[in-house]
Amino acid sequence: MNFDLSDEHELIRKTVRDFAVERVAPVAEELDREHRFPYDLVAELAELGLMGLPIPEEYGGAGGDTLSYAIAIEELTRIDSSVAITVAAHTSLGTMPIFLFGTEEQKREWLPDLASGRKLAAFGLTEPGAGSDAGATQTRAELRDGQWVVNGSKIFITNAGTDITACVTITARTGEDEISNVVVPNGTPGYVVSAPMEKLGWCASDTRELSFQDCALPQGSLLGERGKGFQQFLEILDGGRISVAAMGVGLAQGAYDLAYAYAKERHQFGKPISTFQAIQFQLADMATEIEAGRNLVYKAAWLKDQGRPFAQEAAMAKLFTGELSNRAVNQSLQIHGGYGFMEEYAISRLYRDQKVLEIGEGTNEVQRMVIAKHLDL
Ligand SMILES: Cc1cc2nc3c(=O)[nH]c(=O)nc-3n(C[C@H](O)[C@H](O)[C@H](O)COP(=O)(O)OP(=O)(O)OC[C@H]3O[C@@H](n4cnc5c(N)ncnc54)[C@H](O)[C@@H]3O)c2cc1C
Repeated sequence: MNFDLSDEHELIRKTVRDFAVERVAPVAEELDREHRFPYDLVAELAELGLMGLPIPEEYGGAGGDTLSYAIAIEELTRIDSSVAITVAAHTSLGTMPIFLFGTEEQKREWLPDLASGRKLAAFGLTEPGAGSDAGATQTRAELRDGQWVVNGSKIFITNAGTDITACVTITARTGEDEISNVVVPNGTPGYVVSAPMEKLGWCASDTRELSFQDCALPQGSLLGERGKGFQQFLEILDGGRISVAAMGVGLAQGAYDLAYAYAKERHQFGKPISTFQAIQFQLADMATEIEAGRNLVYKAAWLKDQGRPFAQEAAMAKLFTGELSNRAVNQSLQIHGGYGFMEEYAISRLYRDQKVLEIGEGTNEVQRMVIAKHLDL
């Protein structure tokens, strides 16, 4: 076994860490407070080749592996979740379906703009009545006079409504027992994107409700084979879980870093609070769990890069790091005392940003269902 990262992976970590500390950290609090989408940061991330990290270079991406991508998402989340989810949703949910299931023509049409980060993409699976039970989708696409006519709605869709969003891939019923994926370009008549949704956390990221009313699309908008939409979105979610799990590790690491620094600096009873064993034990527990979580995430990414089955490990990594990040932000805020409850301390933002990691791309309960299925239960 070799637990050392390659020089290439270390370089990715350093590049993204430097970017996150130098460019994201100074503006994260303001973007969050003003609920402002980080357009400038996305442009800079695009220049660094981080908006299409695992997409091959021939389509405008950086040609990196899943592990590099996980490290990049981890390092961004360590500083700010809104920026990290913007990159992760764009890459794993928006761009990946087109790369994995698109025809060569569809790839040439969409990927150069998406993988280079000039444009963003979204993936619309969730509906008001179809969340964990995503197969219960009610949105319909009917073939009429050589066009797909879409009617229905989606909810909580990340990156769907920014000024640079190019398209959303949605799941739609194309027959009674048939789900397919369809690419809908932004600006198509009949496709309406709501105002940004107001959220507890991820406040600088873009989350929208989508509605489709007789939205007509060319027949070539179908992504992959008709009727394969269900298998396709399961595959997309398996991969996406690695990036959300990487967010869990990154967020926990960020919370630990803040708690560590604060505990060294804050004095009570005449000494730094880091000298009290109760505080030391909390930091020791956090460091231990983060190490375990990181290993789960890297193992899932490594399996995927080896072309081996990884769905179970991705679900385990997502479940474990979701719950670990919950404990980490809670302990970190506790170590900050009353100051942690104040918006001027970054831990308050990390605390608000955490909860959704146990909900998006499959709740904790759904991860347990996936794991149980793999255990043949
Ligand atoms: C900020 C944000 C961004 C998002 N971005 C996207 C996006 O880009 N694209 C997209 O398609 N979706 C997106 N989502 C949606 C997200 O994936 C769903 O919220 C999630 O899958 C849960 O669905 P739900 O909210 O309808 O909850 P529900 O499915 O209604 O679940 C409610 C509760 O019931 C539990 N539950 C449900 N079924 C079972 C069961 N069989 N056994 C035990 N417990 C069960 C759940 O675990 C949960 O605790 C986003 C959500 C948020 C909050």
